Amino acid sequence: MSVSKNFESVYRASIEQPEAFWREQADLIEWSKPFDTVCDYSNPPFAKWFVGGETNLCHNAVDRHVAHRPDDAALIFVSTETDTERTYSFRELRDEVQTMAAVLKAQGVAKGDRVLIYMPMIPEAAFAMLACARIGAIHSVVFGGFASVSLASRIDDCTPKAIVSADAGSRGGKVVPYKPLLDEALRIAKHQPTSVVLVNRGLSDMPMRTGRDIDYAQAAEAHRGETVPCEPMAATDPSYILYTSGTTGKPKGVQRDTGGYAVALAASIKHIFMGQAGETYFSTSDIGWVVGHSYIIYGPLIAGMATVMYEGLPIRPDAGIWWQMVEKYRVSVMFSAPTAVRVLKKYDSKFIKDADLSSLKALFLAGEPLDEPTARWISEELGKPIIDNYWQTETGWPILSLANGIEPQTTKFGSPGIAMCGYNVKVIDEGTGQDITTPNTKGVVAIEGPLPPGCMQTVWQDDARFVKTYWESIPGRLIYSTFDWGIRDESGYYFILGRTDDVINVAGHRLGTREIEESIASHKAIMEVAVVGVEDKLKGQVAMAFAVLKDAAAYATDADKLKLEGELMKVVDEQLGAVARPARIRFVSLLPKTRSGKLLRRAIQAVCEQRDPGDLTTMDDPSALAQIKSLVAG
Ligand code: ATP
Ligand code: MG
Repeated sequence: MSVSKNFESVYRASIEQPEAFWREQADLIEWSKPFDTVCDYSNPPFAKWFVGGETNLCHNAVDRHVAHRPDDAALIFVSTETDTERTYSFRELRDEVQTMAAVLKAQGVAKGDRVLIYMPMIPEAAFAMLACARIGAIHSVVFGGFASVSLASRIDDCTPKAIVSADAGSRGGKVVPYKPLLDEALRIAKHQPTSVVLVNRGLSDMPMRTGRDIDYAQAAEAHRGETVPCEPMAATDPSYILYTSGTTGKPKGVQRDTGGYAVALAASIKHIFMGQAGETYFSTSDIGWVVGHSYIIYGPLIAGMATVMYEGLPIRPDAGIWWQMVEKYRVSVMFSAPTAVRVLKKYDSKFIKDADLSSLKALFLAGEPLDEPTARWISEELGKPIIDNYWQTETGWPILSLANGIEPQTTKFGSPGIAMCGYNVKVIDEGTGQDITTPNTKGVVAIEGPLPPGCMQTVWQDDARFVKTYWESIPGRLIYSTFDWGIRDESGYYFILGRTDDVINVAGHRLGTREIEESIASHKAIMEVAVVGVEDKLKGQVAMAFAVLKDAAAYATDADKLKLEGELMKVVDEQLGAVARPARIRFVSLLPKTRSGKLLRRAIQAVCEQRDPGDLTTMDDPSALAQIKSLVAG
C-alpha cells in the first residue's frame, strides 16, 4: 500500500469490494494453505472468512518471527507486585510455548478441546494462550479477578478438558489466592476437567488434589525441549471463547475464528495503531478482557512487535510507573482505558513530565466513553495524540477510531472517530428499522452484515442466541445491533450516547441516562455521576443520580449538599428540560463498577428498586454499592 491513500476511498473499497480489500490484507499473515473464497455469506448472518485456507495463530505470532529475528524481544513481563522483570525473545517465547503445549498434550488436550485459563498477569498465561493456539485447542480466558460463581458458570458453559491456573495473583501488594476460588468453582460446577495445571508462584498455599492437579514446574521439566508443531487450522476453526463483561446481563460466550482474526488484527495494527515490527506495544489491559486478547497477546505479536505484559497498579510504587515503563522499553504504542486515566489525573503531572516519552507515537483509549475533560487533560500532559476507539468483545477490534496509518485524521473530542475499514456502520431508527441519514440524529449504532473478519462467529454452542440477540433486535431487518445509541455528524464522526438498555421512560419520554449524566457532570463540582431509571407508580420511571464530588470537603454539611443538588437540577432543566430532571441527586465517594471499569447501572437500579442486584462477582469494590444501599434505605 502506498504511503498516503485517501482514507475515504480505501474505506469505500472495503465496503463495496470487500473481497478485494480483505484479499490484500490477508497477505499480512502467513498461510500454510491458501484460501479459495474470501467470504462465504451464503447463510447470513453467519460469515465465513477465508474459506479453504489454513493457518495458525501461534505460528503467526511466534514461529514466523523466530525465522527472521529470533533474538528480538517478544514478551516483556513487568510485575510491580513481585518486583520481577523479564524479557523473552521470540525464540525463548517459542520454547516456552512449546513446553506448555507439550504439557497440555500430555494431559490429552487435542484440537478442538477447550482449555480454561484462570490466571494472573504472568508469562505462563501468555504461554498457555499461545500453546492452545499452537495445538488447536480453544482457550477460554476467565479474568483472574472473578470469584467462584462467575468462574463456575463459565466452566459449565465451555466444558474445558483442562484448566490452567496458579496459586495466586497479587493486587496492590496484597496476595489474592486463586486456587481456593478455583476449587470452590469446581465444587459448584457440574462439569469437571480431567486436569488442572497449576503454576506455583510461591505466593500462597496450593493444596493439590491427586489425580487431577498438576504442578506446572514439574511437568515442564519433563517436557522441556520437546518440539510441538503448529497445528494447521482451518481459517474458520474457532480459536477461542471469551465471555462479555456482563455489564448488562448474563455474559455471552463470544466465539472467534482463526484466519479472519489473524488478518483483522494484522490490518488493525497497521492501519489504526501504526505499529511496526521491532517496536514495542504496551496495553495496560488484562488478558481476561478482549483488549488483552487482541492487543496484549495476538495483535502486537502477529505484527512482530514486542508486547509488554504488566502485573500491577498504575499508581504503585507511584503514579509514574507506566511512564517509566514507556521510557525504559521505548514503547511506541500504548493502549489503556479512560478509567485508568481518570485515576492518574488525581496525581501530580510531574510523573508524566519526568519520563522520556519520545518513543511514544500515540495513546489509544477504549472501553467506555472518553469524556472531553479527561481527553484534554491527558492530551495536554502527554503532548501526544490521544486516540479513542470504540468496539466490543464481540467485534475483537475497533469499529470506530481513526485510521491514521492510512491517512492522518483529525481528532474530535468526545467522538471515538469514524467507521473503520470493513465495518458498514449505520445509525438506525429503532422504531421503524430505517437508516437515519440526517446528520446528528440519534439512533441505534448497527453494522450491516457480513461483519468483517475477526468479529464473533457465533455465541458458543448457541447459534440461536447469536441470531436472536444480535441480529433480530431491529424490526424488519437482519442487522447487527451494538446496543449502543449514537449519532453521526456531517463529516462521518460518531458520538456514542450510551447503551440502549440504559434508556429510561419518564412519563412517556425516553431519556438516555448518559445524556443526563453528561449534563450533571458539566457542573464544576462533579467528578463522576451515574444515573439510573427507578420504577415510579406515577411516571413509570424517574431518574436517580449518584454523584462523586471533586472536593467532598467543600460540601460537608447536609445544607451544602441540598444546595448543590438544587443547582444541579437547574443545570439539567436548562440543558435537557424538566422531564430529564432526576428525582434526587445523592452524593457518594465512589461508584459501583465492573473490574474492567464500566459503570454497573443495572446493580444501582436494582438496589434503588430494592431488588436483588444479582451477580455482583464482576464488581470491583462492594462498598460502592453499600453506600447507595444505605442512602436509599435512609
Ligand atoms: P455485556 O455485553 O455483557 O453487557 P459489555 O458490553 O460491557 O458487557 P464489552 O464488550 O467489554 O462488554 O464492552 C463493549 C461496550 O463498551 C460497548 O458496546 C460500549 O457500550 C462500551 N464502549 C467500548 N468502547 C467505547 C468507547 N470508546 N466509547 C464509548 N463506549 C465504549
Ligand atoms: Mg455488550
